[in-house]
Amino acid sequence: MTKINLLDLTYDRLEAFVVETLGEPRFRTQQIWRWIWQQDARGFEEMTNLSKDLRMRLPLISYVRWPEVVDLQRSQDGTVKFLLSLEDGRLIETVLIPSVQGRYTQCLSTQVGCAMACTFCNTGLMGFERNMTHGEILGQILVGRRYLADNGLADLRNLVFMGMGEPLNNLDNLMDALRSMNNNLGLKISWRRATVSTVGLPKQLDILGKSELALPAISLHAPTQELREQIMPKAARVPLDELLACLDRFPLRPRERITFEYLLLGGVNDSLEHAKQLARLLGQRRCKVNLIAYNATENDPYRSPDPDQVIRFEKLLWDKGMTATIRRSMGADIKAACGQLKAGKGK
Ligand code: SAH
Repeated sequence: MTKINLLDLTYDRLEAFVVETLGEPRFRTQQIWRWIWQQDARGFEEMTNLSKDLRMRLPLISYVRWPEVVDLQRSQDGTVKFLLSLEDGRLIETVLIPSVQGRYTQCLSTQVGCAMACTFCNTGLMGFERNMTHGEILGQILVGRRYLADNGLADLRNLVFMGMGEPLNNLDNLMDALRSMNNNLGLKISWRRATVSTVGLPKQLDILGKSELALPAISLHAPTQELREQIMPKAARVPLDELLACLDRFPLRPRERITFEYLLLGGVNDSLEHAKQLARLLGQRRCKVNLIAYNATENDPYRSPDPDQVIRFEKLLWDKGMTATIRRSMGADIKAACGQLKAGKGK
């Protein structure tokens, strides 16, 4: 029998493991869950409230292993980027980003590589390797939270699924992970603090909406179907009107809004005409637009937009009555854009 990493079990599956596989009373589930997700335990000898017999039996069929930090870079601006190795040696990235009042937002990956192949994205260029498991997705949070605690830094506040991969192409593991992190005996991160960034896949968005587990941010990046097809051809297989219709039925609570991300690529989608088209497209919707200046890399077919143009673009949206913000570019000195660190490692 192959041993299982207990990080990969949801609460329900851990309970089945405790009761059926181990033949232990149900309350052991809570104890083990707490050790794993609250106490950062990685060895069974630490789990002192378990019986000695159980502590001996557990390692015969299971273990607790976090993703391993193989590289860590800290930017001048406080951004910390981790390159993590998974159990099969595959590499993924996660980033801690300082936000207001010393709090941190963590950017999480959900897949090794990505199948969407957006033309501007480093991860897209790598192609799809595999989905990340429940334990691998949440393991990033364990690593991030530990780093903050060890360095006397403030709390992890928000989570954004904006790292490597298309989260909604790994929907089951994503939703299990969202449910697990809500668990009050564990990570205790409420769903209101999680944002799932996606190219916009209607069927999956409908399921996420019903689950009430997280809010979506949509990587729109173009105001017309035609331009979207050019810069993100696979994502654009979902026609814009179908995507918008799906978002119009996404259940929102009072004060909540859908976020649209708009990556500004110099000379491609950053003219004021594009801004007008965007305002026309989204104008009446309950949404906000988050403008992201493209982070160019070497040998890149795209260039970063002129900073003044970014401001003009934002202003036009405000003039049209929309809410728009410009995402601060963090960690530029450590290649913190999607897939850049891994790309530099040649794997
Ligand atoms: N697949 C999901 C989540 C991962 S990408 C999605 O598409 O939303 C997270 C965000 O980073 C997306 O908006 C993506 O378009 C953007 N992005 C990718 N490469 C970038 C780059 N080089 N500079 C700035 N943003 C980038």
